[in-house]
Amino acid sequence: MHLILFGPPGAGKGTQAKILSQKFNIPHISTGDMLREAVANQTELGMKAKSIMESGQLVPDDIMIGIVKDTLSSTKCKDGFILDGFPRTVEQAKALDKIFKELNIKEVIILDFNLDEEEIIRRVTNRRSCKNCGALFNLLYDKLDDICPNCGAKGTIYQRDDDKEDVIRKRIEVYKKSTLPVKKYYRENDACFISIDGFGEIEQITQTILEKLTQVKVH
Ligand code: AMP
Repeated sequence: MHLILFGPPGAGKGTQAKILSQKFNIPHISTGDMLREAVANQTELGMKAKSIMESGQLVPDDIMIGIVKDTLSSTKCKDGFILDGFPRTVEQAKALDKIFKELNIKEVIILDFNLDEEEIIRRVTNRRSCKNCGALFNLLYDKLDDICPNCGAKGTIYQRDDDKEDVIRKRIEVYKKSTLPVKKYYRENDACFISIDGFGEIEQITQTILEKLTQVKVH
């Protein structure tokens, strides 16, 4: 199965991607996670991306397209993938179509997550993650102390710099300007596009996704 999880920051793409990745046993390809790893490892890419990410802007298309092309061409993606956070511009969407053609990838489903702007801000500013295992938490639903409930590491729970309120407002602005036009591009190109209401309980949203995927019958 080839899935693209599309939608604004904080709409639940990462959470659902992790669940679906386990369920279907296909890799979760998160461009945001890849960039954060590069920043943590202080690679050349990480050095370039750090300040761009901290300000809520997008990393240049050519860099992102190169990374995604390499990843989708690798053997780990041979039986499918869940792409989360890419494409974010029409340029990236066009390049992705080209990559799919080259790799002979045909059936691609786009899950389009929708969520109200104030709910995004409420969620994202309460979001926390573990530096050690990458697990995601939310102060709105999870009781957190100094120990990661997922891996048991101590002192590793943190808030991403780009989840602070001023930056998330900027990210939403960038989403509207640069990423929303991707929807129009996909609609004009007859892509398989499924709308997902991002508001509600995690399990219930997963259930809706699974039902909608069965209806399109591509797996
Ligand atoms: P995310 O975790 O998907 O919200 O991504 C975090 C940040 O990484 C974004 O705000 C961007 O700065 C950068 N980023 C992730 N994916 C992309 C992409 N496809 N194109 C450009 N920048 C990206």
